[in-house]
Order: sequence, then structure tokens, then C-alpha cells
Amino acid sequence: MMEKIDQLIHAKWMITCEDENQILENHALAIKDKKIIDILPSDKAKTMYQATNTQEYNTHVITPGLINSHTHIAMNIFRGLADDLELMDWLNNHIWPAEGKWVSDELVYDASLLAMAEMIRSGTTCFNDMYFFLGATAKAAELAGMRAHIGMTVIDVPTAWAKTPDEYFAKGLEFYHQYKNHELITPTLAPHSTYTVSLDNLRKVNELSNEYGLKINIHLQEAPSEVEQSLAQYQKRPLQRLHDIGMVSPNLIAIHMTQINEDDMDILEATRPHLVHCPESNMKLVSGACPVENLHRHGINVALGTDGAASNNDLDMFGEMRTAAFLGKMTAHDPKAVCALHTLKMATLAGAKALGIDHLTGSLSVGKCADFIAINLEEIETQPLYHVVSQLVYATPRSQVTDVWVAGKQLLKNRELLTLDKKEIIKKAQVWGKKIKN
Ligand SMILES: [Zn+2]
Repeated sequence: MMEKIDQLIHAKWMITCEDENQILENHALAIKDKKIIDILPSDKAKTMYQATNTQEYNTHVITPGLINSHTHIAMNIFRGLADDLELMDWLNNHIWPAEGKWVSDELVYDASLLAMAEMIRSGTTCFNDMYFFLGATAKAAELAGMRAHIGMTVIDVPTAWAKTPDEYFAKGLEFYHQYKNHELITPTLAPHSTYTVSLDNLRKVNELSNEYGLKINIHLQEAPSEVEQSLAQYQKRPLQRLHDIGMVSPNLIAIHMTQINEDDMDILEATRPHLVHCPESNMKLVSGACPVENLHRHGINVALGTDGAASNNDLDMFGEMRTAAFLGKMTAHDPKAVCALHTLKMATLAGAKALGIDHLTGSLSVGKCADFIAINLEEIETQPLYHVVSQLVYATPRSQVTDVWVAGKQLLKNRELLTLDKKEIIKKAQVWGKKIKN
């Protein structure tokens, strides 16, 4: 008797991205009730399973969906508005004023859809966001069908979304209670940084994290100036200040961390937070480089993110992987550092570990959700093919992602978006662009 299942997806290659990575040839994923129930040779799968939907990817590699572990997705609408500037000049004189004038529920919804269309078309199935008007991002994610971690932003600066820290906390908690049991949307805490949030409010964030079991995202030691300012004002580095209030733990997602000295490394080794490396944003703003290889040697989990598109200027995890590998080698002065497989894992399993969802996604494993992507390698840019993992990381453009699934639901089919309206999204982006430019 053949077992009835929902989908059987055959592929020329599969890269599992498990701890013990496997590269499988001519294998199939068997999917039932949104989950991977089997991974087996295609020949065998055809005799064992009767699927409602069978698809064959004879020139493709299937990998887990990519996880963008740090974004401000709605900032897509400000892409290219202010470039070639230093971080504080960029924030204070360009980005924050534009946000103050334009960010609204409506803008965040339209901009989030624009970002999600871009992410789905480049193989990203899950993102970890920090922005304002969380409900609008969540509503867009529900429509898109993406897995979304959405941060309850706290910042001691009034914005269009909230005027006081109390208002940020109140709005964040309202969002938390609305989405705490959602299948694909997970609320997190997102204090902006140690230079924009007071220690009292950081303590409050920590209490909420402990009370509700929430991950905390924070921009940390992004650039030398941030560390210098903290030393001048508090005689302590930002990581030390967070450690002193008990915030540095596996629940913490420390974003950027380009500045790491020996004392910092001791704290990281003792407390095991997760780090997110955003190499393109760090390079563009000349913030520094996260020492990925050194952290890897110390057993610290490092995930990968694009940061907002206004400082990147895209949400392309394929481009980010390539940059992370090259910058990682430069930083370690070692061409063997941050190899192709290590880089692919930063964009998949390491992201899932950082977000605390590696039991659900991040690798192709029986029992995990069917979050995966198909990439066609039979294109000019990726021929001939000697090593599938290095081809994927070092040579494959995001446009070769053809198909995308989240929890068994197909979101992209042969490069066509199935849940989003591309024409409408472009039209709305153009309308916003015209208004913001004037
Ligand atoms: Zn950021």
C-alpha cells in the first residue's frame, strides 16, 4: 500500500544544512500536513508515496529556506534615498527625519509587501524584523505567507509610532498578545541599542523577556564610535553594560558586533548569546567587520542578516552570503576561513538557532516544517558544475531561485509570486517614491 501524502518534491540535489550536512543526489522530499515526513531516494519515493502534488526539479538544488536574521524590511521604501554617508550622519540627518515625516501604518504595510516580494524572489522564507507599526508588517506577512519574527521596538526617541518608552512597551505588548499563538508570526523584543535606550528601559526589556520567554534583538557594538562613546560616558563597553544587568544570555540576539576585544569574547563564551553578522551594511557604513571565523572557533553561533535595504541596498541573502564569505576570509587573513558550507549554514540553520526555531526550520530534516527553496543551476552563470555548495555561495545569483515554500505552502512557482501581486506592489512603491522624493 502506498502512503497518501500532500507533496512529493524530487530534485537533482539537496543540501540538508543539518549539523552533519549531507549533499543528496536524486532524492525526494515527502510532505504531509506542512511537514517533511521523509527524505529518500527518488526511485524509492515513487514506490512508497502517492502524492496529491508531485514536482520534479531535474536541474535544481533544494536547500532549506534562507533566514534573514536582521532586517528593517519597511526601510525598502527608503532604498537609495541617502547613500555614501557615515552611520550617525546617515541616521541623524537623513533616515530618522524621513522616517519621522513618512512612516505610518499604510507606508509600513506597502513597504513590507515590497520587501516580502523581494525576499521570496530571492529564496528567503523567514526574516527577523525590527521596526515600527508592527501590526502592518504582521498583516503583510500573513498575506505573503512568510515566517516572520517581529520585534517590539523600544527606543527613547519619539517616532511616528510612539512618543514615550511607555507607549512603545504598551504597543509592543498589545502586539505580543495579539500574535503570541500565531503559526508563522513570532513577537520578539527589540530595544534599538544601548545608546538610544536607557538602562532602566533595558532592564524592563529583560524582565519582559524572562516573563514571556521572548528573544531580545539589539544593535550592539556596531561601530567604533558606539564603543568609544560608551567608554567615555559609562567607562564600560556596551556588551559589558548589558552583561551587568543580566541581559547577555542565549535569549539575546546581538546584531553587528564588529567590535570584539578579549574581554568581550570572554563574556560571549561564558554567556552564549547569538550574533547576527550584516557584512554589507557594515561595509557600506564602514562600521567594521564581525570576526566570524574567530567566533566560530569559540563556538559562538553567528547568523546572517542584510539589515535594512536603506543601508545595503537590497534584501539579497545570496549576495550577503558571498560578501560574508569573502569578508570573513579577509578579516581572518585566511582563505580557508568562512568556507562555502559554513556560509550557507549561517544563512539557514544558524539563523534558526539564533531565532530559537531550529526545531521547526533551518534544515531539511524529517519532522521539521517544509520551508525550502529550489534553485536552478542549469543557467549560464552556474555552468559547468563541480561543487554544488561552492557554486551556490560563490556564483549563483538570486534570480536563479525558481520556487519557494513555507510550511508546505508554495509562495513562488517558476519565479511567479503566488501570494502577492507584483504589479500592484510596484505601482504602490512608485507612488510612495514620488511623495518621499518631493
Ligand atoms: Zn539594523
